[in-house]
Amino acid sequence: MPAITNKQQLLTTAQNALRKRFPLPDAGPAGEPRPLLEELVYAACREGATPAEADDAYARLRRAFVDWNEVRVSTVQEVADVLRPLPGPGGRAKRVIGLLQEVFEATYNFDLGELAKKGLKDAARKLRFYKEGVDDYAVAWVVQRTLGGHAVPLDGPTLRVLRRLGVVEDDADADPDALEATRASVEHVVPKARGPEFTDLMSVHAKELCVEKEPNCPACPLRTDCPVGIENTSKKADPKPKKSR
Ligand code: SF4
Repeated sequence: MPAITNKQQLLTTAQNALRKRFPLPDAGPAGEPRPLLEELVYAACREGATPAEADDAYARLRRAFVDWNEVRVSTVQEVADVLRPLPGPGGRAKRVIGLLQEVFEATYNFDLGELAKKGLKDAARKLRFYKEGVDDYAVAWVVQRTLGGHAVPLDGPTLRVLRRLGVVEDDADADPDALEATRASVEHVVPKARGPEFTDLMSVHAKELCVEKEPNCPACPLRTDCPVGIENTSKKADPKPKKSR
């Protein structure tokens, strides 16, 4: 049994340990938040990637194209080539182009500023109408980073870590309703003020130690509280064969 059984305590302890293990770069003085549309494009880079990977890909995207309209009229291949080496660059490119196309058709520009003024719940609900480029992660991301609300975006790597820690169920993202319920349960135990750092640390941890195939449990600071870590680090080496007399 893990030494800590309460989910909130477990995640607080995990976040503190991961902060020591993976010091995040100082965010510096808070600058202007990205406009809503840009934050949605960033979310398409960030889902399933680390902050550093997403920052690099987003910066390449801004450098490679004159404006969002040029991205919109580019091919999936052209945008994917810029996003690489992010995992799944083709899917991300399709999502970014689809989002820009939907926003352009709805507003004839690339500005979602009016939507951001509608209040948190209304803005989040309306964002879900952009089906091509906006998923649960993207809505939660902009609520956390741009709209000033409390949300914890959950992507595949983050869910993998939370499953292994025993915080969420195996079928946590089986369908949209299950994912929303899982997210609500995580948001319940991760305070708003710790949400952005929690999100970033989980992504880095999933990339560095809690990898998909063989998690590096012996090197993990969470191993004594993680059921999978306890199991993986307590497996005894095969007993040596007894010497025959
Ligand atoms: S102990 Fe292993 S399974 Fe658990 S969080 Fe750490 S790396 Fe992942």
